[in-house]
Amino acid sequence: SNIVVGGGTGFIGRMLCNKLQTKGYGVTVVSRMPGANRLSWDELKQNGLPDGTKAVVNLAGQNVMDMSRRWTAGFKQNVYFSRVNTTKTLACLIDAAPAKPEAFVTISGVGIYKPDCDKEYTEESETKPYDFFSDLCKDWEAAAQFERTDTREQCRIVTIRSGVVLGKDGGMIKQMYLPFYLGLGGPIGDGKQYMPWIHLCDITNLIIHAIECSTVKGVLNGVAPQPCTNMDFTKAFGKALYRPTLIPVPKMAMNCLLNKERAIMITEGQKVLPKKTLSTGFEFQYPDIESACKQVVSTHQ
Ligand code: NDP
Repeated sequence: SNIVVGGGTGFIGRMLCNKLQTKGYGVTVVSRMPGANRLSWDELKQNGLPDGTKAVVNLAGQNVMDMSRRWTAGFKQNVYFSRVNTTKTLACLIDAAPAKPEAFVTISGVGIYKPDCDKEYTEESETKPYDFFSDLCKDWEAAAQFERTDTREQCRIVTIRSGVVLGKDGGMIKQMYLPFYLGLGGPIGDGKQYMPWIHLCDITNLIIHAIECSTVKGVLNGVAPQPCTNMDFTKAFGKALYRPTLIPVPKMAMNCLLNKERAIMITEGQKVLPKKTLSTGFEFQYPDIESACKQVVSTHQ
C-alpha cells in the first residue's frame, strides 16, 4: 500500500520515507521540485490521491529558523501558508477521494502552549493563541479537519505537536554543531527555559505508529518523556562533543539576530509531556537528552 508524504524531501521527511520503504510501503512524495516517485502539488490537485493510498502525512513547511531569511511580513506569510495551505489541500483531496485513506497524520508545534515556568502541558491542556506561532499552530491543526462527515468517520486525523527535532544533518543540531564544536556553545540567557525536544528517530517512528495503530487519533505530543531545559541540553550536547559550554548567549542577541517574535522558540519554553503518546503504547528509543545527544554526535563523526 501507498503512503503520500507532503514535504517528504525535508529533514524529517527523508528519514520517514526511508523507514516506510524499508517496511515495504510504496511512498509518493509531494514536492515543489520534480523527481522520481514525486508529484507536484498541482499534479496532485489535478489527479487526486493515488489509488490505494493507505495514509497521508504532511511535513511541508518553509523553514522558520533559516537564518539567511529576515523575519519580514512576506517571509511570515510563506511560513504560514506553506503549512496551512498544503494541509488544507491534502484534507480536501482526502474528502474528494472515493476510497478514503485510513489516516491523515499532520505535524504541528509545541508553540501552541504558552511558555510558562510552572505549568505542565499535556495533550488535554487548553490552548489559547497568544502570538504568531500559536495562531499558526491553531490554523494549521484546523486546516487538517475534513468537511465531509463520511470522511471524518473513515479517516483518522492524528496531529503530532512536535518539539525541536534532534538529528544529524538538519534542524537545530545542524545550526548549533559548529559553534559547539568550536567550544563556543552556551546556554541561551540563563538556560532555565524548557526546551521540548524529540529525537529524529522517535518522531519518524511516532508518525509510523500513528499510521499503523488503528486506535490512535487526535492530538499527540511529539516530545521526549524526560523534559529538559535549555541548560540541560547545552550541557548534554557539550559533553557529547567533549567541549566546554561556558559562554552564555544573551537573549537580546538572539532577539536582534532572529527578531523577538521568532526567537521566542529558543528564548522561552514550555514544559510539555507526552501523556497521551505514551498511553497509546508508543516507546521512545531516546527518552533522555544525554542518549539523544550522544547518538547525534556519534553519527556525525
Ligand atoms: P524542512 O525545513 O526540512 O522542510 C520540509 C519540506 O517542506 C521541504 O523539504 C520542502 O519540500 C517543503 N517546503 C519548504 N518551503 C515550502 C514552501 N514555501 N511551500 C511548500 N513547501 C515547502 O522541515 P522539517 O523536516 O524540519 O520539518 C517538517 C515539518 O515539521 C515542518 O512543517 C516543521 O514546521 C515541523 N516541525 C519541525 C521541527 C524541527 O525541529 N525540525 C519541530 C516542530 C515542527 P520541497 O522543497 O520538496 O517542496
